[in-house]
Amino acid sequence: MTIIPDILTGKNTKKNLKQLETNRTNAFVSGPAREGCALLQGLVLCGRCGRRMTVRYTGNGGIVPLYECRKHWENGQNVTCSHLRCEPVDQAVVKRVMEMIKPANLELALLSLEKLLHQEDEIEMSWKLALERAQYEVDRAQRQYDLAEPENRLVVRNLETKWNEKLKALEDMQKEHEKHRLNHLWQPSVKERNDILNLANDLPRIWNAPSTTFQDKKRILRLLIEDVTITCQARNENVSLGIRWRNRGHEVIQTTKLLPKSMARKHPPDLIEKVTRLAVEMTDFEIAEHLNQTGCRTQENRLFTKASINWIRFRYRIPGPKGGDGYTVKEAAEHFGVSAHVIYYWIERNMLTATKQAPGWPWKIKFDSETEQKLFEKVNQSSRIAKTI
Ligand SMILES: [Zn+2]
Repeated sequence: MTIIPDILTGKNTKKNLKQLETNRTNAFVSGPAREGCALLQGLVLCGRCGRRMTVRYTGNGGIVPLYECRKHWENGQNVTCSHLRCEPVDQAVVKRVMEMIKPANLELALLSLEKLLHQEDEIEMSWKLALERAQYEVDRAQRQYDLAEPENRLVVRNLETKWNEKLKALEDMQKEHEKHRLNHLWQPSVKERNDILNLANDLPRIWNAPSTTFQDKKRILRLLIEDVTITCQARNENVSLGIRWRNRGHEVIQTTKLLPKSMARKHPPDLIEKVTRLAVEMTDFEIAEHLNQTGCRTQENRLFTKASINWIRFRYRIPGPKGGDGYTVKEAAEHFGVSAHVIYYWIERNMLTATKQAPGWPWKIKFDSETEQKLFEKVNQSSRIAKTI
């Protein structure tokens, strides 16, 4: 795909550069520090619902910026549609921008532009032929009209109508052609071409200059990028970024986000293998007991618990035993990362099998790996289910 951003092709280039220069001289009077983060503020869209994402600052002292979709807040549920830290997104997009404006890439882009311009010439030629043909039709209709005997009124009227139709067709075609011509591709002169390549050399330097503020960087990104659609899911580190460039080109790049520590932790393969083997017959509680009794400990040198085994099974998609003592509603809610209401709803609709030992006793919930997988997918895909992670 040809990517030639406006800054590098448009006539506003000089104005933009001047703006950048002005900003650089004002480098030390930039706004509050918190504005310094989240470079794509105002440019990011939620890949799940399409809304513009906002920036929220969290962490100690509010210094960690997040891109966040406010859809669920707006609906009165205190859960965001999707959110993630700004840093990996910003880094991936900036890296792509820097790659894109490398002179070699621009050289290629300019070459492709020339190719397009060549095609444009051919298109123009077909326009010319079509217009000539339409003009010929008009002339012919006029000639026929002129030759008609004035006393034969019906014939004259018909010929006049025909002539008018041909004239209208020619006019329409001329308008269409004009429209096409206005949208025709911009053709850089040799000087403009060199300016573009020089600018490409310059932009990384401007970007990395100590005097370039975050505001400048935000402005540069705005010159190049129309918007970035972020698609990510809870519990999954993969993030896809759909970049729409200002020149109407678009592409999708991939990056990863940091998962919560508990999710990012890796478990040794022999432990996973052991849990897989034991899970055929044992409940999570029994597995934890068994591992503890045989001297196994977690990586933090702690005893295993039902919850930690449960997490390992979820993380590595290890199915549970056929029998087992079942989950409580709270455990199931934690397991699926949803609120207890969702679990009750699923039980009510028979989406989860749950039994009570006696009336008034707590629910015991059981599910096989297929149901588990189905419900996880439901949670991930639904924007209406309130997630707790
Ligand atoms: Zn959303």
